[in-house]
Amino acid sequence: ADGLKLAAAGKLTVCTHLPFKPFQVRDTKGAIVGFDVDYMDLVAKKLGLTQTIVDTPFEGIKSGQDLKIGKCDVAAAGMTITKTRQQVMDFSVPYFDNTQSLLVKAGQPYKTLADFKGKKIGGEVGNTGLKFAQNNAAKYGFTVVEYQDTTTLQQALATNQIQGAMDDLPIWTVLVAEDKRFTIATKFATNEQYGYSVAKGANPKLLATVNEVITSSLKDGSYAKLYTKWMQL
Ligand code: GLN
Repeated sequence: ADGLKLAAAGKLTVCTHLPFKPFQVRDTKGAIVGFDVDYMDLVAKKLGLTQTIVDTPFEGIKSGQDLKIGKCDVAAAGMTITKTRQQVMDFSVPYFDNTQSLLVKAGQPYKTLADFKGKKIGGEVGNTGLKFAQNNAAKYGFTVVEYQDTTTLQQALATNQIQGAMDDLPIWTVLVAEDKRFTIATKFATNEQYGYSVAKGANPKLLATVNEVITSSLKDGSYAKLYTKWMQL
């Protein structure tokens, strides 16, 4: 495809951070599936490419570094568009509305952040939920603990190393639908929007294609289909 810069010929190389179900997760056979995966398949198809996924720490994705060094062509990681991130990568139009949510063990008395005085809240390294927890820690008197991914975060909660786990609402709604050990104590109107991103200033044609796919999917019903397929919201 003309004017496209690609990490590997014939492929749309996508950086993500597993697992972030329902956006990206391994199924029982080990294949990576999810809302973002289906979306990037649409983009790849439109460009005559096949998608290949690179699982990599979120820090490298959100810092723009992975895109900058050409580890991948596009980042698709349920990533919130922020002013800081916009300075180091080019985002698509928004494709998903998100708020933070606090996961607790079912049957526990935690309802609001004020109930966490002297307790521990976990979050994922580098993400907006961790930052939101950190920004509220002093005010409510809780401690923040960092985890590498949603698996270690929910394990820490299951084993009582922490009393709450902060992460994006679609992640925890899917989890609580499957795992009755957990419930969502509260949600926060953080007014986040997800975007896909490409290297800053370096891949306008790819970005335009991503935007076209998002815009047309909203009109032709394919967005609604993917939403129903993956979300528990
Ligand atoms: N939406 C959140 C963020 O961008 C979480 C993303 C993630 O952990 N994969 O920080």
